[in-house]
This record gives sequence, C-alpha cells and structure tokens, in this order.
Amino acid sequence: MKRTDLIPVLLLMPVLGFIAVQAMHTPAITATSQAASLAPASRAHKHRANRTTESAASIADDNTDSDATIDADADGKSRDVLDIRRRIQLGENGTYIGEILSERDSALARWPERLTTPVRVWVGSGPAIPGWDQSYPERVRDAFDQWANIGIPVKFTFVRDSTDADVHVSWIDHFDSPISGKTIWARDGKWWIVTANITLALHHNAGELLDAKAVHAIALHEVGHLLGLDHTVDTANIMTARVRVRDLSEADRATMKLLYSLPPGSVK
Ligand SMILES: [Zn+2]
Repeated sequence: MKRTDLIPVLLLMPVLGFIAVQAMHTPAITATSQAASLAPASRAHKHRANRTTESAASIADDNTDSDATIDADADGKSRDVLDIRRRIQLGENGTYIGEILSERDSALARWPERLTTPVRVWVGSGPAIPGWDQSYPERVRDAFDQWANIGIPVKFTFVRDSTDADVHVSWIDHFDSPISGKTIWARDGKWWIVTANITLALHHNAGELLDAKAVHAIALHEVGHLLGLDHTVDTANIMTARVRVRDLSEADRATMKLLYSLPPGSVK
C-alpha cells in the first residue's frame, strides 16, 4: 500500500521522541506531525508584581511545523482541487486560512467527522510538579469543549484510561526551550488527523509559574493546532504565534469552521 511516509524535521528533541512513539504505535498511518508550543511572557511582563493578571503571560509559539509534501495519488481521484479552491475563496473572508495554507505548503489537515464516535481524550495530571493546581485538567477539558462547541463535526470525550485514548495531554514543569506547550499530531495519507499529543508546561522556560487562565489559553491554542489550525500573525487571535488573548476570536472560529467544511489534503 502506498503511503506518504513523512517524517518531519523537527527541531525539538522531545518532539522526535514523540514521533518515534507515534510511529511505533501507528505504523500504517505515520505521516506528518506538528509541534507547537507556547512560550512565556515578554520580559517586560516577567517582573510584574501580580502574576495572576491575564496580561502577565503572553504566549509565544515555537511552531516546528513539518513541511510535508504530498503524494498526488494519496488524495484519491474524487478530490476536485479547483472546487476546493473555489470554496476557500468564497469562505476565506474573516479567516486566516490563507496563512495556514502558506505555512503548510497548500495542504490542509483535519480530523474526520467524529460526532458519533467522539475523539477520546486523556488528560493527565501533574501533582508532583511544583505549582500544580488540581483545576488545570478541567481547564484543559474546557478548552477542548470550547472548540467542539463552535460548530465543527468533532466531539471529544474524556477517558480515564490513557491506553484507550486518541489524544493524550501531559504535563511537565517546563520546557528547555522558551515555550510552554507543544502539540504533535499524525495524519494518514489523505491528511486526516488520526492521533495527537499535547504537552503543557506549568512554568515558563524562565521559571515563572503559569496561572490558570494562561494554562487555559495555552490549551485553547494547542487544541487549535490539534484540530488542524496553524498560526496567524494577527495577535487578536488565539492562534497567533505569541498569544495575547485568552479566548477564541471570531476569526479563530471562522477559520476552524471553514477548515472543517473542506476535505483535507493539498489544494495545489
Ligand atoms: Zn502554536
């Protein structure tokens, strides 16, 4: 069977580790992965007295997205690229789909319809990590639900058994690079996302503890990646590389809805 085996060049060692695991567990569908992450506040914010204010943490994102090439055969003969392009043109106003296409070499990736069989999400905990707050997993679950509730054909269900999950969310104290979160997903040969992992840090790389609102914002951003979004330069959106906001914007919602109205794959 012909597959597009695309092992991305990733800059982050932990990512490579994840990729290896993914490849072992899903040998038939290893295709592409994305690492995304959130970084700490600008230095100016670091020394604010009140670290719990929303503005105390801006979130940057070191996105080591893989530039995937695609086998033209992988999309099958039923895809009408011209029609897909036309639908993108009609729907792109108010979205940043164009930025995603340029970052992804004109390819879109997303989950298949998962309304009847929701994506199984396992959210871990990190009670041994300094600064751990038991409310954090709920913040993460809320981030998943916020995206699911905007009107896309994907639902999430939260499972207790990690071995039964499509998606794993894990916690670490901090990343060695100036980031605060990371998302890795894998897709099949037709650009359907099939599995993903999110890692969230409790502290900025510089040591500052992330408050619950920042954790929630980071989770929103990372779940956005998990669902197939990439970055936008507009800092009013949760999917900007350096996040300033704490909620989904209209453009975030519109871009995700447009993505989920289209078949995945290359539109070249
Ligand atoms: Zn990102």
